[in-house]
Amino acid sequence: MTQEHSNKSGFETRAIHAGYEPDAMTGAVIPPIYATSTYKQDGVGGLRGGYEYSRSANPTRTALEGALAALEEGERGFAFASGLAAEDTVLRALTRPGDHVVIPDDAYGGTFRLVDKVGGPWGLEHTPAAVSDLDAVRAAIEPGRTRLVWVETPTNPLLNIGDIEALAAIAHDAGAKLVVDNTFASPYLQQPLTLGADIVVHSTTKYCGGHSDVVGGAVVVRDLETADRVGFHQNAMGAVPGPFDCFLTHRGLKTLAVRMDRHCDNAEKVVDYLLDHPQVADVIYPGLEQHPGHAVATRQMKRYGGIVSFRVHGGEQHALEVCERARVFTLGESLGGVESLIEHPGRMTHASVAGTDLEVPADLIRLSVGIETADDLIADLDRALGVEK
Ligand SMILES: *Cc1c(COP(=O)(O)O)cnc(C)c1O
Repeated sequence: MTQEHSNKSGFETRAIHAGYEPDAMTGAVIPPIYATSTYKQDGVGGLRGGYEYSRSANPTRTALEGALAALEEGERGFAFASGLAAEDTVLRALTRPGDHVVIPDDAYGGTFRLVDKVGGPWGLEHTPAAVSDLDAVRAAIEPGRTRLVWVETPTNPLLNIGDIEALAAIAHDAGAKLVVDNTFASPYLQQPLTLGADIVVHSTTKYCGGHSDVVGGAVVVRDLETADRVGFHQNAMGAVPGPFDCFLTHRGLKTLAVRMDRHCDNAEKVVDYLLDHPQVADVIYPGLEQHPGHAVATRQMKRYGGIVSFRVHGGEQHALEVCERARVFTLGESLGGVESLIEHPGRMTHASVAGTDLEVPADLIRLSVGIETADDLIADLDRALGVEK
């Protein structure tokens, strides 16, 4: 991270400048895509800028990692080939067989699968707890064994909110670290490290990249000791992104602030529209006063994000019809891109938790509200919902 853009500048300035100075030789304003696996040494061990081999470090990745650290206000950032690769690296860097972690009872499905199906056989134990229920999280901790309290906020798709400051205190009291998956909020809306969290993870595939054109992940940490462990494992495990993926993600990050503001503007308009619609039974958005996490979200988030969930009258059949009738909202999984997406969690992203405690309502629809013209989004929902009005 270049020092002059590290802490003093505003978020937007850091998003555009942190991590990179125009290239000394050519003046290139944007980090070149260093498509190289190895680097010429000036005599044995004479590395230029520390570059030796591109699993260990690559200048295009260094620039992205500097930007990620600056945006989350962390000590160091690390880029990975996917969000799950980032998560796997944190788990293996900071736990040992026999250790225990607390995870959200509505964790992202891939996170649950990683902890349960990959971590479990290796000897990692876990207890699920609702991130919005501090007593439940406290009760799930096993003093002396729990190494990580892992939370998401807002959660997916019901947008539950965890109080990061309070969760950090609970984790630290038990000698554990707090990990926050900040994918849904993005560093523009919420900076968990400034609220006491120890580690932030991202699927940069979502808002950070923001254009649905690259899969990636990130870890940002706030202390040097954790940085050393994560850095060692990043190189030892090797799940690093290539330079072109780093270029795309970094390019996306530069416009994160303006995109997020438009995502939030449009989401607020969509929420207002849905609240008045006779076919809509319930609207779930942390920006609504009736949302149980509203007060905490207001304290720790700049705005409330671009994801809106809602339930329709007419059960699963109607929910599926609405998803299929939408045209501007594309029917698809994932989220956080400039284009609006609509999905049916019960049959799509959350199909694997059907029949468990994590099952989501069959009449639930999740929107990732994009940055198109708001009136077109509302007209599209009107068409999709309106037939039986
Ligand atoms: C998508 C997602 C992940 C996984 O990231 P990938 O880039 O798909 O590996 C993790 N957490 C959350 C909250 C996500 O939405």
